[in-house]
Amino acid sequence: MKKLFKNAFIIDPSNDLAGKYDLLLDADKIVAIKKEINQEGCMIIDLKGKILLPGLIDMHTHLREPGFEEKETIKTGCEAAAAGGFTTIACMPNTNPVADNQATIEYIKARAKEAVVNVIPIGSITKGSSGKELAEIGFLSEAGVKAISDDGNPVMNSEIMRRAMEYASSFSLPVISHCEDKNLAGDGVMHEGYYSTILGLKGIPAAAEEVMIARDIILAEMTGAHLHIAHLSTARGVELLRDAKKRGLKITAEVTPHHLLLTDQKVKGYNPDTKVNPPLRSDRDRKALCKGLKDGIINVIATDHAPHTYEDKLGEYDLASFGISGLETALSLLYDNFIDKNVFTWEELLDFMAYGPAEILGIKHGGLKKGSTADITVFDPDISWKVSKEKMKSRGKNTPFANNVLQGRVVLTVVKGNIVYNNMNGEARILYDN
Ligand SMILES: [Zn+2]
Repeated sequence: MKKLFKNAFIIDPSNDLAGKYDLLLDADKIVAIKKEINQEGCMIIDLKGKILLPGLIDMHTHLREPGFEEKETIKTGCEAAAAGGFTTIACMPNTNPVADNQATIEYIKARAKEAVVNVIPIGSITKGSSGKELAEIGFLSEAGVKAISDDGNPVMNSEIMRRAMEYASSFSLPVISHCEDKNLAGDGVMHEGYYSTILGLKGIPAAAEEVMIARDIILAEMTGAHLHIAHLSTARGVELLRDAKKRGLKITAEVTPHHLLLTDQKVKGYNPDTKVNPPLRSDRDRKALCKGLKDGIINVIATDHAPHTYEDKLGEYDLASFGISGLETALSLLYDNFIDKNVFTWEELLDFMAYGPAEILGIKHGGLKKGSTADITVFDPDISWKVSKEKMKSRGKNTPFANNVLQGRVVLTVVKGNIVYNNMNGEARILYDN
């Protein structure tokens, strides 16, 4: 049955839309967007007071399957994505086995076929993400990966990183770098600074990230590769990128909502849900990241969704796993803190969370126009809601935003013309066949 969305406020800068429109879907395609559409025999969904956007893309998630299904599965991770308004997500290869081979990529793609949102696999740079020997990058490309990364681990050996960039370039794949000098980071558990000192926790200096960003920029310049910096977290990192971009290098970067919003001060109280890698930094870093995004130095907001079990996050801060379960809170956090406060516009946010990631991954996002695939996010700015661990779709309940009251919430997610998430009546339902 055709679906007719009525009275929505539609925003899509790439198709010059910002106003009240009706939108008609037939099967998986958008067939009309007009000021008023009246057609009989379709499912009518009234979206008065709601904002309809091109489907969001998160280019950095961990779905944990295969190997760590107790933390998340492709199915549950995609449900969390749908609840967060994401219609496409890219998943990192640090599974077990690591996605360093065609068979694992094929397995992920097969599982993703049954999931509610689109999944783009990322292959690893080195075999086993161990940093020692290059993965078969050509075969990974053939299997359909859209980028390579050893995310979770840095590629410490500069010669291997150089070769990875050379191979990746010949397959037009971006290299997503987890920038961390392991020797400098040591066994640190939080940002090295005032709070690590007063809390008595081992620190990870900002330099651990910055020296690797500097190295990777130099290697990208040498090889001509497309370097993408994952989860940028420091002010100096932004400046290194600013300089590299001035020189015309093909370098992009992402930042997470938690690094834009939280600082190391949040670690007071030793809540393991604040433990993340890279760590929450100083307020100076946080402000520089916001400015870097505004200035176009940082291209993308990605969640780095890293779900863990309850036990992984239990007990002592030193022993807890690193990571935040981020898919379900991202858009509300960004709306509440940035759009509603006039820091970013919706147009900017769509660059950070839809068009930017699509461009980096080399996938097509037609947005909201006649003939495009109907991947759509609908947001209600009038709902205020309390983040509840119990109600999260993700298996990972590890969020430092638990019990926060946020303004604005995703109410519908449409993937290839199917409503996969419906929260119009507050029921937050995932739908598999419609
Ligand atoms: Zn990650």
